[in-house]
Amino acid sequence: MQHSAPTYPSSPFPRSAAGHEGSILNPSNVLAHLCWLHQLNGAKAKQKDYDFIYLAIAEQRYSLWLEKLHTRGYWREGHKVPVPPIDVLLMWHTHMVSPWKYYEDIARLYGTQSPLLMEDFPLHMATSSDNLSKITWNGNDEVLWNTVVTAGRLPYTLTDKDLKEIAMECPWCTNTCTFWSFKYMAFLKGDIIDALECTDCHAKFTADTLSAKRFIKDLERALNDEPFYLGGTLLEYQTGKVDLKSAKRILRLLFPQSTNETQWLVRLGSASGTCHWAAILDVFRSIESDLQQNWVADALENIRKSYQDVICPYSLDLIAAVQRHRQFTEKIVNPAWCNTKLNDAIDRYHAFLRLLSENPNKLLVPTLDIELVRHTHMLFPSNYREYTYDLFHRVLIHDDTIPDNTRKASFKATESLWQKSGRGAYAPLKSDTSSVGAMANVPGFDTPSLRGVSLDSVAKEAVEEKKKKSGALERFKLLLQMT
Ligand SMILES: [Zn+2]
Repeated sequence: MQHSAPTYPSSPFPRSAAGHEGSILNPSNVLAHLCWLHQLNGAKAKQKDYDFIYLAIAEQRYSLWLEKLHTRGYWREGHKVPVPPIDVLLMWHTHMVSPWKYYEDIARLYGTQSPLLMEDFPLHMATSSDNLSKITWNGNDEVLWNTVVTAGRLPYTLTDKDLKEIAMECPWCTNTCTFWSFKYMAFLKGDIIDALECTDCHAKFTADTLSAKRFIKDLERALNDEPFYLGGTLLEYQTGKVDLKSAKRILRLLFPQSTNETQWLVRLGSASGTCHWAAILDVFRSIESDLQQNWVADALENIRKSYQDVICPYSLDLIAAVQRHRQFTEKIVNPAWCNTKLNDAIDRYHAFLRLLSENPNKLLVPTLDIELVRHTHMLFPSNYREYTYDLFHRVLIHDDTIPDNTRKASFKATESLWQKSGRGAYAPLKSDTSSVGAMANVPGFDTPSLRGVSLDSVAKEAVEEKKKKSGALERFKLLLQMT
């Protein structure tokens, strides 16, 4: 089917003739990305009140889409991945721009050999040569959505009438419960004290119980069903490379089958009344004091961050991530800020990476044109991983939760480093005061996952959370270290 699309001005980035053709980071791909961002800017519910539920349903549809493509072995048969609906693309895109978490989630859920790990974002579904024109969905993609993914149960295009209620499976009795949207939203945002309740077994749902249950289910599966690993354990912390031996070792040492702690954790999950993070964290503390080894606190913290308050199957809250990413989208689709040539933007991105490699442990903030190229790069996940690993001996993380003041100060510091190194003007346009993201050549995971809170409080909480743990505090100091 053809989606009607608004018309856009031609690219604010003039192309220049020579340079990067033949590389993934070429003007055509960057322009296609920009075109997609224009489309994505419109991927929201028509009625503002329903936007949160739009994202919640999109998150569910994205999970279902990945699951079905995986179980149907779609890639094994040599098919091209069909282009999913725009709400699913929105989630896929957002997941990809957390390069560590995306890779770990896909490798953990679908295997380290999953063809999805090699799959790039379908940027060219959208563009026709030089214009920011409309996305043309292939009619066949909708047929595949209806047959392979949803058996005709879910519409290809979400409209506001699909947002009145939301269904979810009770993790205790597998009954499918349907809730009125506004109640579900209040529940997700923590605005109501009353939990939702399963209509069959009467289990109570909160983000706390659901995410605790997800952790315990994964733990049981990892204990009984190798090879399956816990979130937060699959990637080597310094480099972001998969390390199955280490993941296995962490599981064996932290949660041996026979100990009281492990058995207690499994028992906590058996009823919603006992399934809480407070109880799980008590057990974590007990494991920490039993083992008395330095790595234990960090390993447990990485596991906690991959689960606590995250009710989707991944290690980050995609709804909150979309909300953060929209800030970038809104800035980038306003063409007033930039008249850089695309080839120059690509050159500047490479120069920025060099600057980052010359300044390890500093938080550098890219300009919008550099950030646009960087985001384009992340939509080619396997290339991004290899490329940044070659340069830095680690896959570069993406943290978009840096507090505003820190980012502004770091932008100034970055500008000064850039100019001192003889690279010319950093931000030639006054309006380009700083982008939304920031980059640091430090080990770590992408972003914290906190559902339903405003951006400012996300940033503040991220700071508080990082301060709490001494190991994390050291890393945060590294992040904040400026000239
Ligand atoms: Zn139930």
